[in-house]
Amino acid sequence: MTHDQLGQSLRSIAGRARRLMAQFDPRSHAPRRYLPRLLAGGACCALLIAGWKMTGQQGALANVMSSPPRLSVASAPVSLQRVSIEVQPGETLQAAVTRLGVSPEEAQSVIAALAQGLDVVNVKAGLSFEAAMAQPDGTTPYARVASLSLRTGPTTLLMLARGPADSFNTRRVEEPVHEETVVAQGSMEGSLYEAALRAGATPELTAEAAKLFASKVDFSRDIQPTDRFRLVFDHKVTGTGRAVDYGELLYAEIGANGATSRFYRYQPLNAAEPQFYDENGRNIRGFLLHTPVEAARVTSTFGMRMHPILGYTRMHQGIDFGAPIGTPVYAAGDGVVAEAQWSNGYGRWLEIRHAGGWATGYGHLSGWAVKPGQVVHQGQLVAYVGNTGDSTGPHLHYEIIKNGEKINPLSARAPEGSSLDGRELVAFRQQKARVDAAIAAKSAPAPRVQVAQNTLRSPAGNGGLRIALR
Ligand SMILES: [Zn+2]
Repeated sequence: MTHDQLGQSLRSIAGRARRLMAQFDPRSHAPRRYLPRLLAGGACCALLIAGWKMTGQQGALANVMSSPPRLSVASAPVSLQRVSIEVQPGETLQAAVTRLGVSPEEAQSVIAALAQGLDVVNVKAGLSFEAAMAQPDGTTPYARVASLSLRTGPTTLLMLARGPADSFNTRRVEEPVHEETVVAQGSMEGSLYEAALRAGATPELTAEAAKLFASKVDFSRDIQPTDRFRLVFDHKVTGTGRAVDYGELLYAEIGANGATSRFYRYQPLNAAEPQFYDENGRNIRGFLLHTPVEAARVTSTFGMRMHPILGYTRMHQGIDFGAPIGTPVYAAGDGVVAEAQWSNGYGRWLEIRHAGGWATGYGHLSGWAVKPGQVVHQGQLVAYVGNTGDSTGPHLHYEIIKNGEKINPLSARAPEGSSLDGRELVAFRQQKARVDAAIAAKSAPAPRVQVAQNTLRSPAGNGGLRIALR
């Protein structure tokens, strides 16, 4: 090959690289058209690989190096092959680049170019890059990089294209993102957790929803596989449909026992934190939790029963939740610790006094996390499940007390939260309308409509409550 031919061949590679870069570059296309182009690029690549195999040559790069195919640059255009490489544990970036089949000199040039936008020394295993490769042409055993792209962040790419004289041009590309309001919904098959993840929610969003649902539903008792849930949240997506950032939970809904409970996020003008309201603008806080313990199952309900230790029938004035010793117990509502002491058959006992003559009691504990007189908030860790007092196995005995009388926690009509009014109610309704519109769009027949949205806020800090999801 003459010097001119070599120059022509490299110019040809550089030209193809520029066209390939244009394909990679998400800025050059409308987001909706980007995916088909990428797919077309993949198909093209597959055809190249298939063509390669049909010529009887070895497909793997390692084999290419040991027996280079005889392709003439002068008689046939150089075909580019797309290759993906992932940095292995203990491997340097240079070693990974060398696996493309390039010469040591070219590997160094690539590293030098990447160094303009990346810490090439402290590279983590699992980092991956994609390269368009010109395969060995008979004059050299080495492949050549036409272009290379490497993801440096959720929405940033570092792109290399072959420039003049074996150099590489480096470019940083920011992928455009847009926001969408997502409606994730389904039935509680398996668990809320599994079903919500399948529907596109994150573990964090699901946990927040479960905490809301705990104020309405006893998870260990009331949930059926046919019960339905719905979560609404914003997320940012790239042109290829990759979700890169999730907003906070805007809405949660649960349909169980023939009733539907709805929770809308809203932050009152003077409030430090957003809260959740029902469809009428009533704050859901103020209700006592039905299930103040995590990962529990109901082992005994409120009512007459044969006492397992005392051996005669008497009134069981609470609900028992079976759970291992040490399982966290959470305050059912805001209040003040009234008692944290031994109480005969109840063993280690905790009582929290709430507003309006309400109180909650927690028995057979292994220990307390709070002291008498301490102010506690709904969902705060207050004690641990135990097996103290008249108890035949580790469980929490939970009571709800109204003006000194013990009532059935499952049917207790606890005080309701405050309602929004005036300007607050108007603002709440506007926000609610946006969520309702997203749900209506999701429920409408195809084509599927996504409602683009405005701001993403940082997730609000929430209390310590987690709830059993199985
Ligand atoms: Zn009990």
